[in-house]
Amino acid sequence: IMPSTERIALVTGGSRGIGAAIVQRLATDGYTVAFTYMSSHTAADALVDTVRDAGGTAIAYQADGTKEEAFAAVVESVVSRVGGLDVLVNNAGGGTWSELTELPVAEIDSMIAINVRALVLSTRAAIPHLRQGGRIVNIGSVNADYTGFVGGSVYSMTKGAVASFTKALARELAPRGLTVNNVQPGPVHTDANPSDGPAGGTLRSRIAVERFGSPTEVAALVSYLVTPEAAFVTGSSLTIDGGFSA
Ligand code: NDP
Repeated sequence: IMPSTERIALVTGGSRGIGAAIVQRLATDGYTVAFTYMSSHTAADALVDTVRDAGGTAIAYQADGTKEEAFAAVVESVVSRVGGLDVLVNNAGGGTWSELTELPVAEIDSMIAINVRALVLSTRAAIPHLRQGGRIVNIGSVNADYTGFVGGSVYSMTKGAVASFTKALARELAPRGLTVNNVQPGPVHTDANPSDGPAGGTLRSRIAVERFGSPTEVAALVSYLVTPEAAFVTGSSLTIDGGFSA
């Protein structure tokens, strides 16, 4: 029996937007890619088909990342395939822009729950299974370092937490040959932030390259970070924002 050379990646929030582009890119790179989503069954099924038609393998799991039991079951299932995990991409997240006094408490709680708590717990669940050379990539936001507009206090705080978490965790993982990094996108055209949406024109006028980024551009940076040649990059926050914060 030949030992399996299958490499497996798990992407949270992979049904749409940046996550979906990361799923496709890692599949193209040769990974079997498991991904989670909340409710977009149709989009998730279509992505599985698209990856299969391109000769790859993607596996969709409906699992709310804020429910740690649900996520633990996903990790268990993914790991049982090849006895380990090679890449975790914590992408699921999002939020609302609003002045703090106008921001409902439930919305504050939900941003902290998905952007911070779920990311910490998915990382905690994955670490014991990561194989030598394993990689964790978090999707933070340029808003950790630069907001530019009124209304980003809580969202930016959650992404700042991702940056600090990434930095400190790098020291813990390095002895095992694992890296963890934080990709900080600026405005990227997705359902959550459409370039033709109400804020599109204002945002575009503040981006040096005068356009939104595409999910595939973010996926390309993730693709680099998970390679063996990126072994010296760890604990870093890498901004990809078209000069939005320049
Ligand atoms: P989208 O809203 O377009 O997609 C979000 C994805 O995450 C969907 O697949 C969604 O599933 C999934 N998801 C949401 N909540 C959960 C949950 N609780 N459990 C599991 N899956 C979940 O977002 P984007 O692609 O725009 O953003 C992705 C990441 O990039 C986020 O962390 C965001 O903060 C960050 N980011 C985005 C920027 C942008 O301009 N777009 C800029 C900077 C950072 P479903 O389809 O089922 O709803």
